[in-house]
Amino acid sequence: MAESTAGQVLVVEDEPDLARLVSDYLRNANFGVEVVSDGLEAVGVVREYSPDVLVLDIGLPSIDGFEVLRQIRSFSGCHVLMLTARDDEVDKIVGLSLGADDYVTKPFSPRELVARVQSMMRRARSSPTAGGQPVDEPGSGVHEVGELVVDEAAREVRLAGAPVMLTKTEFDLLASLAAYPNQALSRRQLLEMVWGGGWMSDEHLVDVHLARVRRKLGEGAANPRYIHTVRGIGYRMGGRS
Ligand code: CA
Repeated sequence: MAESTAGQVLVVEDEPDLARLVSDYLRNANFGVEVVSDGLEAVGVVREYSPDVLVLDIGLPSIDGFEVLRQIRSFSGCHVLMLTARDDEVDKIVGLSLGADDYVTKPFSPRELVARVQSMMRRARSSPTAGGQPVDEPGSGVHEVGELVVDEAAREVRLAGAPVMLTKTEFDLLASLAAYPNQALSRRQLLEMVWGGGWMSDEHLVDVHLARVRRKLGEGAANPRYIHTVRGIGYRMGGRS
């Protein structure tokens, strides 16, 4: 893939005009961009080149975007931005449940798409910030809550000594909560910390991704050890139930 200091984006889209439009805008924003039009080929390119962000259409030749997502999530935690059809709630829910980090709805503004990719790239490289006072230094800290260890510098999570595999978004959410132990953070705060502000984002994203994190930590909403739901507000790491 073409080298770029802003980061590498793989665009997976089989409509040539749309692929060209998206890649032109991303290149103008200084990203290194590669375009593939086939689902299976996309899986191979992700495996070989580990792009920072995947912009993934759902309707594709060979295998569709959902199957691409299912396959790459077995080996990659890269950011995935899904392109979904307007008003298709099912596509959004399926995409997010398979590990997409965010979505834009067709027809989308190329500027908005670029802004979302930039936000994904920023949070891969910077620390979470919020209005409250972090107990630990965010960004480079090692947070320990019971048997859970969240190492921000190494971007590693361990539970009772065993590594937990999280996607980048799942890690950022967990690290944001862990940086503010025993403090309730609202869905809106978490959305801004992890996805960045500046556009209308869906607070549902926070719930879907935290549900995935909870499953990977082996806990449910009914009996949380680490991630507590705070009714009417959002979530809290640790503390009383
Ligand atoms: Ca398509």
